[in-house]
Amino acid sequence: MASLNALILVCLLYVALLFGVAFLADRAALQGRSGKWMKSPLIYTLSLSIYCTGWTFYGAVGYAARSGLEFATIYLGPTLIMISWWWGLRKLVRVGRSQRITSIADLLSARYGKSNALAICITLLAVVSTTPYIALQLQSITLSFEIFADADPTSGFSEQNTVFWVACGLAAFAILFGTRNLNANERHHGVVTAVALEAVVKLVALLAVGIFVVWGIAGGVEATLAQIDASAIGAWQVMPGRWTTTLFLAAAAFICLPRMFQVMVVENVDERHLKLASWAFPLYLLLISLFVVPIAAVGLHVLPDGANPDLFVLAIPMHQGQDALAMLVFLGGFSSATSMVIVAAMALSTMMSNHIVMPYWLRYRSSRVSVSGDVRNVVLIARRLSIAAIMGLGYLYYVLSGGGTALATIGLVAFAGVSQLLPALVGGLFWRGATRNGALAGITIGFVIWVYSLLLPALGDGLLPADVMEQGPWGVGWLRPQALFGLHSLDPIVHAAFWSLGSNTLIFCLVSLMSFPSPIERLQGAQFVHVFEHSTGPRGWTGSVAQAEDLMVMSQRILGASEAQAFFDDERNRQGVRGGLPEPTPGFLERLERELSASIGAAAAHAMIGQIVGGSSVSVEDLMAVADETAQILEYSSKLETQSTELADTARQLRDSNEKLTQISAQKDAFLSQVSHELRTPMTSIRAFSEILRDVEQMQEADQKRYAAIIHDESLRLTRLLDDILDLSVLEHGQVQLNLRSVVLADVLTRAQATALTGIAQPIDVKRDGDREEIKLFTDADRLAQVFINIITNAQKYCDAEKPVLKISVMHTTDWIHIDFIDNGKGIDKEQSQLVFEKFSRIRPENAGGAGLGLAICREVMQRLNGEIEYFAHTTGSCFRVSVPIHQEI
Ligand code: ADP
Repeated sequence: MASLNALILVCLLYVALLFGVAFLADRAALQGRSGKWMKSPLIYTLSLSIYCTGWTFYGAVGYAARSGLEFATIYLGPTLIMISWWWGLRKLVRVGRSQRITSIADLLSARYGKSNALAICITLLAVVSTTPYIALQLQSITLSFEIFADADPTSGFSEQNTVFWVACGLAAFAILFGTRNLNANERHHGVVTAVALEAVVKLVALLAVGIFVVWGIAGGVEATLAQIDASAIGAWQVMPGRWTTTLFLAAAAFICLPRMFQVMVVENVDERHLKLASWAFPLYLLLISLFVVPIAAVGLHVLPDGANPDLFVLAIPMHQGQDALAMLVFLGGFSSATSMVIVAAMALSTMMSNHIVMPYWLRYRSSRVSVSGDVRNVVLIARRLSIAAIMGLGYLYYVLSGGGTALATIGLVAFAGVSQLLPALVGGLFWRGATRNGALAGITIGFVIWVYSLLLPALGDGLLPADVMEQGPWGVGWLRPQALFGLHSLDPIVHAAFWSLGSNTLIFCLVSLMSFPSPIERLQGAQFVHVFEHSTGPRGWTGSVAQAEDLMVMSQRILGASEAQAFFDDERNRQGVRGGLPEPTPGFLERLERELSASIGAAAAHAMIGQIVGGSSVSVEDLMAVADETAQILEYSSKLETQSTELADTARQLRDSNEKLTQISAQKDAFLSQVSHELRTPMTSIRAFSEILRDVEQMQEADQKRYAAIIHDESLRLTRLLDDILDLSVLEHGQVQLNLRSVVLADVLTRAQATALTGIAQPIDVKRDGDREEIKLFTDADRLAQVFINIITNAQKYCDAEKPVLKISVMHTTDWIHIDFIDNGKGIDKEQSQLVFEKFSRIRPENAGGAGLGLAICREVMQRLNGEIEYFAHTTGSCFRVSVPIHQEI
């Protein structure tokens, strides 16, 4: 029996061989001398075999042992696509080449207006559906190791360790050959060649086991057929629902799986290769599946009960003591699993770095440093880290799920997951009306339903509690994961595929029909749908020396003189050219394009270089992309413009308020000096007369009384002044308590008149308006009276007519009452009439009785009462108009 050590040695040698092949192929491609064989369609066809993973290599037999011929759908799906839909594939490949597509996420995002949201969404979907699949591969390698280990008790085999080292080794391989260099078209000759070699190994291994089983164990074709008939497989009944669904899922996954897209579209060097592949790949699938049923039937027959059917392929040769064959089978399984993991990790890492890491890195970086610099290293690091992260996820998933049965169903589950891309993909290729919103909505809804109805239930216990599975979340029956909307008679896979793909397609179509595509989306749509009319072939620049100067001038304009000079000098050194300008080699032009695109956007950079080197004329698409970018820049600059206007506005407001503050401060100073002045006058006379009273010893009584009266008057004046100032300050600071009630205007006027004129020797003759005053107001009567008193007092004081008369007339509109106080004096000069409401304003101080605060207080009071006080020059004298709102709402 082969020891585990021998197995590991063979395994390492095999890996070394793969490394060697990959390395040689990569080197040959790099030196541009890839031989005929490397470009042959056979390599392409063989590389498609990464479709057959460890799951198909080992699992197909297990599948057949459990569910009979249903396993064949896994092979029939791709066969159908290859034979009947190869023209569709050709379109896909052509689009991929003409648009320089790097992944399926890139393809869909390019089709739907270069939408990064869509790309991120697809990348997440791809990672979620591929991670368990990678774990499944790790499991198949580990299980096959374990079989050997079981036969070799001295091995000291540890499952956990093995998985870990296998994952590390695969990550190293993918990093080494998947990210060795960045190529504009993302081709990895080394990996593809190694994958092709692995395709041969797995085919040979399965065929060898098959032949051994049929002729070595069963004893010929007829005997084998008899054994099949006798086994459970012979009694297998077709289940049309499941059969159709798995067939459809396999066909869909064949196009949508990120790794399949990688080898079929991204790595395709020549679309004519599809011709051979269209019949040779189905043939490959036929050969690889040819012996699945015999192996399953014979395995069930010869192996002890309870043997894991997933490992029959390996267990039969081991059981029969065929060490060399077992070793070959092991390598076959190893090949299937490794090639899948490597290509999947490469494809996913491209998506992750291009659509998630790089956009965020660029955004973060551009906000801190200048926009130039070689992003190549960053991309490589991002890719490598992404590969490590993906392998890490696969490993983690394996450890957390504990391997075993939970993984067995994952293959089909993953197929259903990636199939969610199908509507958007096919729609994008054939329907110009398909829109980004439609794709995004469809994929999201399909993804969510798939996770809920298939992935979570498939991942085993605990993820969805038993009562959710049986009764639905919160007891809502129609939300049961495997019986959505009460559809409970279906097989879980059929059920999930029906709901997820059905709603995905429906929503995709409906939203597409309802939303309007952006111009770039429409153009891309046309480019995709009519790719054969539009495609231009691969875009590689080639320039002549004469154009180097033009390129230099253009770069100087865009990058700035010194930066452009440095970039060109650097390139010249790289090329080893002495003096002058570097040669515009394709590599240099590509670097220059990238450098320029950092400053002016990818589309504009591409168009400008295209103009100069003339390798391709500027297409409508290029122009649209430029326009799109320009629109973005315009939008950005208009935003800046609005911001700067806003800033200017704020500055102006600040300036205004600053001026106001200065004015207020000046007013305050003036006010203080006025107040102190007003206070000083009465204070001085009070002091003077009180000193006389104190110091003059013999004073006549009459004098004493006179002086005391003066002191009394002055202190009254002082008190009045202080009262006024206090009142004004209370009013100005809005601290007044209004006492609103319903009053009759006539009463207020009568009270004011009485207060103002009682005790006056010759009171002014007041003429009232009689009935018109009988009107109700809702206001603060005391405050209103205060205003009236002030006006009447002023008329009394300042009306210089021989026979002073004050006419109080009342008018009202629907909302307002106007009360005019018109006297027959000289009035106030026009230029001074606006000043009378200012504090301390006295037009004629000589006959002043007050400090000039009265009207200022009136104005404040009226403001509080929501009314107004104005001055009009009247034919007969002055006219003060007080306006009060009738419907007071304070
Ligand atoms: P004062 O305390 O001086 O009365 P006011 O603010 O009440 O202060 O009045 C300001 C100035 O307006 C008065 O000094 C006076 O010169 C002028 N004034 C007010 N009412 C009249 C009027 N009816 N006729 C002429 N001048 C008036």
